[in-house]
Amino acid sequence: MPVVTVVAGAVLVALLLAPVLRALVARFAVPEGEPWCEACPLCGRPVGRLLPPTGRCPGCRGRLGAGPGAVEAVAAAVAVAVAWAADGPQAAALAWAGAFGVALGFTDARVRRLPYRLTGPLLAGVAVLLAVAALAEGRPGVLLRCLLVALAVGALLEVAVQIGALGPGDSPLGLALGGLLGWYGWWVAIGGLAAAVVLAGLWGTLRVTALLVRRRPWRGLEVPVGPFLLLGALTAVLAR
Ligand SMILES: [Zn+2]
Repeated sequence: MPVVTVVAGAVLVALLLAPVLRALVARFAVPEGEPWCEACPLCGRPVGRLLPPTGRCPGCRGRLGAGPGAVEAVAAAVAVAVAWAADGPQAAALAWAGAFGVALGFTDARVRRLPYRLTGPLLAGVAVLLAVAALAEGRPGVLLRCLLVALAVGALLEVAVQIGALGPGDSPLGLALGGLLGWYGWWVAIGGLAAAVVLAGLWGTLRVTALLVRRRPWRGLEVPVGPFLLLGALTAVLAR
């Protein structure tokens, strides 16, 4: 298939899916301990299943959820990357992770949190789709490696959660991404984690530099880890 067709198809799918992802971000990007945002805080209109790309409530035009065009742009970029990396039945699991990854990335960036309401379906979907892919390819043995890598990455991140370096939502995300990367092999999983560390480090350095340049006071640096785990995993799959 010509590259232009693949890119156009991926962007189209992303734009069709973006209103759903936007509604998920609006609903679940709430600070720990607060109820899910089921209605617009300004006018009370239910958030519903779909939100427009304007980043505004369709009822009162007030700001609601992610900024204008942001979810659409990221979803389109992720969809093109997923389409680029797709080379077998496991691509369905990759696409599933890409969609939930966009919602999780925006949620973590906004409220430093990866809610189980998003990591749960991500994990379940990846598990089911990888199982289907393994059966379709006639090599169910690959699932054992997916399971082992998922447990290894999940356990590693859980240790970081226990010592307070990460938030509680990072280990279920690690399970899901570990399972997915396990399909491609141990080295891809290790590469994904390494890429996440490098990208988070670069982002942290940029943030510190910006604070120093603007002579802002130093109040610690909270880098949301979720988006970098997701970006690292995607980078590793693309670079394999
Ligand atoms: Zn409203």
